[in-house]
Amino acid sequence: MAVAGICEHCEQRPGAFSCRRCGATVCRLHYDGELDLCADCADKRTADGRRGDSFRL
Ligand SMILES: [Zn+2]
Ligand SMILES: [Zn+2]
Repeated sequence: MAVAGICEHCEQRPGAFSCRRCGATVCRLHYDGELDLCADCADKRTADGRRGDSFRL
């Protein structure tokens, strides 16, 4: 797992994760570890359909 560069969201912190959906390199603050998505995709995902706080396991 290679660190590609800098977070594409804040462009300040080193990108430590990559989004499995869009492939963006993001820092820990902009990565949702539960969804494996960057903040952007996680946001879209919740906005898309899964409203509410129902937690599925
Ligand atoms: Zn960031
Ligand atoms: Zn993403």
